[in-house]
Amino acid sequence: MTTIGIIGGGQLARMLAMAAARLNFRTVILEPQPDCPAAQVANEQIVAAYDDERALDALAAACDIVTYEFENVPVAAAERLALDRPVFPPPKALEAAQDRLVEKRFLNDSGIATARFHAIDSQADLEAALADFGGSGVLKTRRLGYDGKGQRVFRSGDDSPQGAFEALGSVPLILESFVPFEREISVIAARSTDGTVACYDPAENVHRNGILHTSTVPAEIGAATRDTAHAAAKAILDALGYVGVIGVEFFVLADGSLVANEMAPRVHNSGHWTEAACIVSQFEQHIRAVAGLPLGNPVRHSDCVLQNLIGDDIEDVPAWLAKDNVLVHLYGKTEARPGRKMGHITRLT
Ligand code: AMP
Repeated sequence: MTTIGIIGGGQLARMLAMAAARLNFRTVILEPQPDCPAAQVANEQIVAAYDDERALDALAAACDIVTYEFENVPVAAAERLALDRPVFPPPKALEAAQDRLVEKRFLNDSGIATARFHAIDSQADLEAALADFGGSGVLKTRRLGYDGKGQRVFRSGDDSPQGAFEALGSVPLILESFVPFEREISVIAARSTDGTVACYDPAENVHRNGILHTSTVPAEIGAATRDTAHAAAKAILDALGYVGVIGVEFFVLADGSLVANEMAPRVHNSGHWTEAACIVSQFEQHIRAVAGLPLGNPVRHSDCVLQNLIGDDIEDVPAWLAKDNVLVHLYGKTEARPGRKMGHITRLT
């Protein structure tokens, strides 16, 4: 039986392991936290840090193919594994996605519009860049930001930027021009080992407190906007020689044009609806891709709304279970801390 190694043991790896099992694959999880969400449903867990060389060698020995569930896998770890085993998506996808500056340049080089941006390495850089953008912009850490963490928004005539470089940790930053978007969408797309690309319809995303709250499908966009989003996803996948599923987030402007925000070289929270509304979910699609199997049909059979269950939302589960058009998916986390993703529901509409 073929064994798939997964770096990272959270809910995304858990759902990948479940999809893998349905297609007769074994899974081994590399994750430092014992009894992690993924290990509860996988065949084996190696409990070690992601950059532990002995653990990486043990992972390579235990599996035939390696994949990952998060974009901050150390590139050196992925490259070490790639000497022994196929690693999908390719490690260069990690490099492109880990640093917002590298990512924006890569997107622009691939013909995809982004917000304007300046690299910020000092308070003086920040002040010059803000002046260039008329006093407004979104300041972000280049690395390790997620769910709106490590960010600060400046609006024209707002508070002074004084001390802002230090407040974000005096680390490399990027200032993006403020995009006056009407809505946010994301595309989940997959590329197989033979270069075939399959795209799911874009979802329209609403965030609360910087965390994804709902993804609604279809998004309120025209066919031309949808086609542009799909073409951008394909351009990214082809440029990286990608294998697996990717999530690409866009801002939609009033005229329907798109500005790419970021990409995640993995299955994506805004694609969880695919398990309820498509024959082949993003998780199975990823497993098919990395295992060299044909991709499944991404066409949606139902419209739907995905909603994350964050922290105490877990208490609503009995009410969701009582509805006849809702699929509930829980992640096996015992402690419902505020802001923690405990599960999600998909309501067919
Ligand atoms: P991010 O961490 O890059 O996904 O940003 C988190 C959220 O901040 C996005 O979902 C947007 O709602 C908002 N945001 C980020 N960048 C910009 C931008 N350049 N212009 C306007 N809003 C932004």
